[in-house]
Amino acid sequence: AKESSSDSFHFFSAGMYERFEYQVVIEEGLKQALSNKEFEVYYQPRLRLPDQKLVAVEALVRWNHPALGQVNPEDFVPVAEANGSIVRIGRWVLEEACRRAVDWQRDGLPDLRVSVNLSAVQFHQSDIIADVTRALEKSGLPADRLELELTETAVMADIDQSAEILLKLRELGVMLSIDDFGTGYSSLSYLQRFPVQQLKLDKSFVHGLPQDADAVAIARTIINLSQGLNREVVAEGVENAEQAQFLSEAGCKEGQGYYFSKPLTARELSAFASEKSNL
Ligand code: C2E
Ligand code: CA
Ligand code: CA
Ligand code: CA
Repeated sequence: AKESSSDSFHFFSAGMYERFEYQVVIEEGLKQALSNKEFEVYYQPRLRLPDQKLVAVEALVRWNHPALGQVNPEDFVPVAEANGSIVRIGRWVLEEACRRAVDWQRDGLPDLRVSVNLSAVQFHQSDIIADVTRALEKSGLPADRLELELTETAVMADIDQSAEILLKLRELGVMLSIDDFGTGYSSLSYLQRFPVQQLKLDKSFVHGLPQDADAVAIARTIINLSQGLNREVVAEGVENAEQAQFLSEAGCKEGQGYYFSKPLTARELSAFASEKSNL
């Protein structure tokens, strides 16, 4: 059907315009967010299977936006990656998480490892070795209590450069994880080249457990593969007891998800940890 000339001016639909406007608000707001102290780090407990002892926490950033309320990383991390501000935001998250882990230790909580997500931009386009070194020095956190999570997509973007950076990070003594394992490149051979100790089984596979036969096959394959390669597996997105039990029986040593706890503020995490250690 031929459009009338007046129709052709309806270039943006209302929904598109709102989305565009939202992007602009995000992009503008990011400029001041760090100096206005609008970011906050939440911590999601990670538990050992099957005894459910608290062993680690994953740092997950939140943005308390003055007008929009709490903004989730999926809504601003891509924008921050595109304009480069993720480098400074990521550096802040790293330092905040290390500082917090040391505070908890001072407060008498059991030793927890803290795991921090690194963006591909931080990994490939900034001096991540210097940032990690500084975060450890400033906080006094022992290197073996810090874990860094990188997605397959991030490390596969430039395999030679990745291998070199990962090796240097490993020499600092930090632990390295591949995040969202199984969702990126299907090539497994690169695992041999990377000094990573841990794979995080993506929640999309955990979701179908234990009913969905494909999810079961994929989960078992990844757990067996990592045992063969001497890597640990952490399951993310564990939402119920059946999933926790299946994973534990399949040989997965650690789990994280709403079944155990949602991501918590630093204060809530303290309470969760002391409650757990009094059991
Ligand atoms: P991710 O690293 O895969 O983190 C897991 C996400 O799953 C988190 O979403 C978490 O809140 C959510 N989750 C936890 N348990 C469950 C569960 O049982 N079921 C389901 N369906 N979801 C669960 P969140 O906090 O919104 O973070 C989303 C993504 O944003 C993260 O995915 C990570 O890729 C990125 N991200 C978060 N914090 C940072 C950061 O400091 N730096 C960078 N570069 N990326 C970050
Ligand atoms: Ca992660
Ligand atoms: Ca993940
Ligand atoms: Ca994810």
